[in-house]
Amino acid sequence: MDNPRANIENLIMEGDLEGLLKGAAEIHGHYCPGLAIGVKAAYIACKRLDIIHSDGMEKIMAVTECNNCSVDGIQYVSGCTLGNNALIYKDLGKTAFTFYKRGGKTGLRLVAKSFSDGSDDPLEKEADALFDKAVKRREELTPEESRRFKKLWEIRSHRVLNAPEDKIFSIETVDEPDVEYAPIYNSIRCSVCGENVMETRVRMKDEKPVCIPCAGEEYRMIVGRGIRNA
Ligand SMILES: [Zn+2]
Ligand SMILES: [Zn+2]
Repeated sequence: MDNPRANIENLIMEGDLEGLLKGAAEIHGHYCPGLAIGVKAAYIACKRLDIIHSDGMEKIMAVTECNNCSVDGIQYVSGCTLGNNALIYKDLGKTAFTFYKRGGKTGLRLVAKSFSDGSDDPLEKEADALFDKAVKRREELTPEESRRFKKLWEIRSHRVLNAPEDKIFSIETVDEPDVEYAPIYNSIRCSVCGENVMETRVRMKDEKPVCIPCAGEEYRMIVGRGIRNA
């Protein structure tokens, strides 16, 4: 089989940030400045650390300190995803990312700066006002406002891509502690619901293996707020 990431790697090598944003939007579902920040951060890291050829086998790791829109840009461009265990999520609420190679000496940490703060550009102000209405207050936009919001969000995304790196990020080299490779565990059948469960998540009830919900235990999940108990 061909390298499944060949297209993405070509876009990185050619410096085609617009192409990368388009690809990332295929999984993200919309164009937004957050997505553009993730795309740009991963692009800068891939270039500087020479980690373009990520193989999805945890040789290259990405650490995200947030779970906002930008993470889809990180996953798409760097190839480090939740599913291939090369994406580590720290629930710190900072739009900050660290990339490193396993066995490498240092990682690169990029922290996003506030992009539109202090801007008196009327387009930025209009975009912020529509964002507050639609996202912060969850109010319905008129069809016209909705079209306008999409357009402004797209414009801002492109501004992020085209801005100088130091306007969008502060960038530093850091020592990022390596994490273990993802272990492989056996599956065990829950004696109540019959579903298969990774063995480290099996509980014993009346001397029989059960899954966490069947045991009635609390578990944790990632939601918009971060990692929470269910
Ligand atoms: Zn988004
Ligand atoms: Zn069960």
